[in-house]
Amino acid sequence: MTPAASACTSSTLACRDCGRMIDLCAFCERVECAVASCHVCLRLALGETLAHPHAHGG
Ligand SMILES: [Zn+2]
Ligand SMILES: [Zn+2]
Repeated sequence: MTPAASACTSSTLACRDCGRMIDLCAFCERVECAVASCHVCLRLALGETLAHPHAHGG
């Protein structure tokens, strides 16, 4: 049970914002996404939208 097709990735998805190669969209978790975003851009987008304070401790 070894993945023979290691260097043969059919899914070539790139982040729409930064253009980083990703396995799947970090937002909708789908390979086929027209507006795919990586985890970095997703966090940035959510951070700018929510702008929640630091809930670390306390
Ligand atoms: Zn990105
Ligand atoms: Zn998506």
